[in-house]
Amino acid sequence: MPYTLDQLNTASQAEAEKMLDGLYEHTPWIAAEALKHRPFKSLAQLKHVMAEVLARADQDAQLALIRAHPELAGKAMVAKTLTTESTNEQGKAGLTDCTPEEFARIQKLNADYNAKFGFPFILAVRGPRGTGLPRQQIIEAFARRLDNHPDFELAEALRNIHRIAEIRLADKFGAEPALGNEVWDWHEALATHSDPGFAEQGQLTVTYLTDAHRACAAQIAGDMAAAGFDEVHIDAVGNVVGRYKADPAVRHPKTLLTGSHYDTVRNGGKYDGRLGIFVPLACVQALHRTGQRLPFDVEVVGFAEEEGQRYKATFLASGALIGHFRPEWLDQADADGVTMRQAMQHAGLAIDDIPKIKRDPSKYLGFIEVHIEQGPVLNELNLPLGVVTSINGSIRYVGEFIGQASHAGTTPMDRRRDAACAAAELALYLEERAAKDGDSVATMGLLNVPAGSINVVPGRCAFSLDLRAPTDPQRDRLAADVLERLQQIATRRGITFKLEETMRASAAPSAPAWQQRWERAVATLGLPAFLMPSGAGHDAMKLHEVMPQAMLFVRGENSGISHNPLESTTADDMELAVRAMQGVLDELAAETAKP
Ligand SMILES: [Zn+2]
Repeated sequence: MPYTLDQLNTASQAEAEKMLDGLYEHTPWIAAEALKHRPFKSLAQLKHVMAEVLARADQDAQLALIRAHPELAGKAMVAKTLTTESTNEQGKAGLTDCTPEEFARIQKLNADYNAKFGFPFILAVRGPRGTGLPRQQIIEAFARRLDNHPDFELAEALRNIHRIAEIRLADKFGAEPALGNEVWDWHEALATHSDPGFAEQGQLTVTYLTDAHRACAAQIAGDMAAAGFDEVHIDAVGNVVGRYKADPAVRHPKTLLTGSHYDTVRNGGKYDGRLGIFVPLACVQALHRTGQRLPFDVEVVGFAEEEGQRYKATFLASGALIGHFRPEWLDQADADGVTMRQAMQHAGLAIDDIPKIKRDPSKYLGFIEVHIEQGPVLNELNLPLGVVTSINGSIRYVGEFIGQASHAGTTPMDRRRDAACAAAELALYLEERAAKDGDSVATMGLLNVPAGSINVVPGRCAFSLDLRAPTDPQRDRLAADVLERLQQIATRRGITFKLEETMRASAAPSAPAWQQRWERAVATLGLPAFLMPSGAGHDAMKLHEVMPQAMLFVRGENSGISHNPLESTTADDMELAVRAMQGVLDELAAETAKP
């Protein structure tokens, strides 16, 4: 019989410790210490408290925990001296059936890894879905992590240990993330569609209105219909729109809008965008299964285009909902010379109807969006969810310092007009100035000495500036300081510069009431409501222009890497995202029902 949370909360300390025995390999003190913080609202809270206990422990204690783990497919496995939990995990991942070549490869990796880091390689081999990673993926992860910096790898090992504990805890409490598993499986199925040239290599690329893109739309529409949406259609720009209608007793119900995009970058991840479609799908499915109706309609939109890959029309899909579709885009051609108009006609879209999909904001309560974080913050903090305070505003520039190219051997240091040194100085200033704000970011992503040579003082240096901050005034102060410093550097070094502003996007601060609904929903799950800005742009930025919006972030694995095939989250984190959205729906239903 699996334990219940109630049993854990009411048991004596000794009994409770016994219930959690084996969560952390040969290291019972973590659970023991965490149990002093009972009662727990949820297993999510218990997991968070255990992660905090370990984070506060000194490094020796952390290392001892890592070293208490057996090597993967190592001597202990062969000699059958693993703990029951480890035997189960390594067996599920098929490590007990390694071919002689695989076994030899793993032994070599074990030896190299131990020599570099001084502790065994730890990987939650049951993987993000809990069903076991394929051996090939385990070996690839092993080889990849060998290249990590030791500080980072120590943290990564601890994160994997928490994931192992999470799965062991779910086993003890019979707490399968059923909703999260469904959300996971929808993503897997959708990821089988990929554009030609990428599909063959096992890469995921879905760009606007390709065959794979239209197959995705059809699949999402089918998933929506199966989940119990009342109306499902594909609109004039290729958005998949599902509506779950309000309780018929409610007269003139308003609509809650939610969703995200299903297109991807080239060789991208499976969860960017799509998580924001499937999480609300799971919510509607749960409502439908229990025959529940809310006092408002729920409209879920799978946006057709956000990434701007095939055509330079980023946010085309969410933009169309607020009347921002620009007819001149239709004549833009892709790399193969196919215009957007031709692509739309080929897909059978009714181009003339595009203006009609503009929404009337007065009919909407607001917009919420769930998205994978696409950054390392939640992963580092061992937090599954984060509440977004604002989508950062940004300004981009491209520029060039123009100094004097001269002989690297004969030009004395005090007679140089080195354009690259000027850019380097500016890059270091960006780093220092953005850090001072705490939540601003500034990047010189392009830095190039055109036609440079090893024995020539750089006469020109081209660079880019990408400046972002949670509010427009903060962004503007950052930009003003950077431009002032750029001017000073040029003057002092006796060089000139060119600078062109190429992009300016306003910040989209979350509507306070909507942000607070997410905060309360996360807190109800027993988790801290961690507040963070979004460094990346999202569909919510567009809807922000016409209605209140707020976003929820979900932790990404692998240090939150995104726009990359390694992008991942777990079924457990997906489950929490579904539960958080259910919390927002419940609260909104209670508010709306009030006279
Ligand atoms: Zn996205």
